[in-house]
Amino acid sequence: MDIKQLDKTYIAGTYARFPVTVAEGRGSLVWDEDGKEYIDLTSGIGVNAFGAADEVWMAAVTDQIGKIQHLSNLYYTAPGARLAEALCQKTGMRKVFFSNSGAEANECAIKTARKYAAGEKGADHFTVITLKNSFHGRTITTLAATGQDVFHKDFTPLTEGFVYAEPNDIGDMERLIAENKCAAVMIEVVQGEGGVTALDPDYVRALAALCEKEDILLICDEVQCGNGRTGKLYGYMHYDITPDIVTTAKGLGGGLPVGATMFGEKTKDVLVAGDHGSTFGGNPVCCAAAKSVLDRLTDDFLAEVTEKADLIRKTLDGAPGVKSVSGLGLMIGIETEREAADVIGDCLAGGVLVLRAKNKVRLLPPLNIPLPVLSKALDVLKQAMSPERK
Ligand SMILES: *Cc1c(COP(=O)(O)O)cnc(C)c1O
Repeated sequence: MDIKQLDKTYIAGTYARFPVTVAEGRGSLVWDEDGKEYIDLTSGIGVNAFGAADEVWMAAVTDQIGKIQHLSNLYYTAPGARLAEALCQKTGMRKVFFSNSGAEANECAIKTARKYAAGEKGADHFTVITLKNSFHGRTITTLAATGQDVFHKDFTPLTEGFVYAEPNDIGDMERLIAENKCAAVMIEVVQGEGGVTALDPDYVRALAALCEKEDILLICDEVQCGNGRTGKLYGYMHYDITPDIVTTAKGLGGGLPVGATMFGEKTKDVLVAGDHGSTFGGNPVCCAAAKSVLDRLTDDFLAEVTEKADLIRKTLDGAPGVKSVSGLGLMIGIETEREAADVIGDCLAGGVLVLRAKNKVRLLPPLNIPLPVLSKALDVLKQAMSPERK
């Protein structure tokens, strides 16, 4: 059987895959099993921050693999401690819990918020407010946190204690805070899966002030918009706010699974021995990879991310077939006149990989994509979006 047939036979059918079997990649290019080349504007859904098989990243990974790959959280290891130090120094957050994925990073944030609120206000203060159209993960609890019914159906009952506010409507948030005994508000400053939309700065600042006043924790889910993706180290840094908890994953490990839940002043000592854990969390190889990613997200590098993002916007704004462009930095959503699926299919045929979010074409290129490669990909994308294309 060929790979596609094997996959269909033996792997649970949870993914509608594109008809490509990826064999290998270098930087922003990948090749399929027949040697056809593609420019990758997906970076594994915002995971391969520095593209495929990046030399610096590989050196960090292989160096650590040659020392020890894992020894559990029963012992101290250097890569996790160094990564946590770097995260705290670069964000001002105070402590970190490591896991393996975005969903787990959010689970940890929710557990922490509930324990904090139980201690401060009583165990009945467990409600977490999230936003409509949000995405926070696929576990039963993070599905409950996800404010989109399509993800809930068939899996009820979900974890109780989640209510959903209208994004960019501070009045709706005030109403929900008044009606519920709340532990936390959790937001993505740029909603990814929900259609790549950045929240209004005024709304986010008003929300942060409201949470502060009510002593309700503000959790920023930076799983997709974190780690340089928006042109700042974390997306919330565009908004001049200080979250109580920041969660991240995707781009952090540059292609290896690592999730992080970062705690601020109020929450740094909420979890104590025995409260939470993860066998693979803080794995030294993943943490060494993440440290190498974080070390390269310098101000100069982030300025280049912003320059490339500006170039993409300049190219797409007003291009034939483009209705609107949304997002922040290299997290881009394009509303097209043609069906997104048709545009994506034509890009694939033309050798460019792009993503979808709701009815939009979504771009999450590697942060270090070279300008000429990016320009070439944008030419293919523009052709695919053109209404003349049938
Ligand atoms: C992808 C994503 C998650 C879930 O991350 P996993 O690693 O797939 O568990 C959570 N929140 C946001 C904002 C995401 O984009």
